[in-house]
Amino acid sequence: MNDWNLPWEGGCRCGQLRFKVSAAPLLTMACHCTGCQQMTASAFSLSVAIPSVGFSLLKGQPVIGGLHGAARHYFCPHCMSWMFTRPEGIDEFVNLRATMLDDASWFMPFIETWTKERLSWATTPAVHSFQTWPAYEEYPGLIEEYAQLASKPVR
Ligand SMILES: [Zn+2]
Ligand SMILES: [Zn+2]
Repeated sequence: MNDWNLPWEGGCRCGQLRFKVSAAPLLTMACHCTGCQQMTASAFSLSVAIPSVGFSLLKGQPVIGGLHGAARHYFCPHCMSWMFTRPEGIDEFVNLRATMLDDASWFMPFIETWTKERLSWATTPAVHSFQTWPAYEEYPGLIEEYAQLASKPVR
């Protein structure tokens, strides 16, 4: 099953927080919402949805940041890198910030969300674009399509 070249490891800017990924991603995303623009200090966030069972911390203790609301945004307490998010009401997967992976060179966003808030010049190679979020019932089809079309790490 391992054409994903798992496991992967990654960490924050300062290295005090390290993690391991041992399950294939469900979906990759770019989010153009103004919240992501603020938290990344950039045009959009980049996420890899990883099944929770395949995500573990190896080192360090992340802290909650962002709005401290229902979506739990985890940061390194020292360098303040935005590491991953546990979305509101969802325990099945974590949204890991793609560029925290030691090798993110293979990453490409498969869907992009919140294009209605995007900066006018900010475009991505995403296959599917959504004004806000995809409808709940669209996810199974997107996940299935991603499994077939995804760009993957090369050995
Ligand atoms: Zn750090
Ligand atoms: Zn966003």
